[in-house]
Amino acid sequence: MQESSTQVKYKYVVMLNDSFCDGCRQCLPSCTFGAMIWVRSDETLLIDSWACTGCGTCVTACPGHALKLRPRSY
Ligand code: SF4
Ligand code: SF4
Repeated sequence: MQESSTQVKYKYVVMLNDSFCDGCRQCLPSCTFGAMIWVRSDETLLIDSWACTGCGTCVTACPGHALKLRPRSY
């Protein structure tokens, strides 16, 4: 069956391990897809999994190893 244009075509998505994240924000400039959102009000990082392409650039940018790719289950 052919995939519709609305179906996700990326195989991986990045996941944040909150317990490893110290809020340094070094990962933010590495994402050119708008998938990383810094929430000022509570100083936390959010990942927009629908915008994430699974490119992995942020994974290498994070000094605290708080970001990992995993296969998409959706
Ligand atoms: S670079 Fe890593 S530790 Fe720093 S804010 Fe991003 S996820 Fe958190
Ligand atoms: S894996 Fe790529 S697209 Fe996804 S949040 Fe990281 S830098 Fe952005």
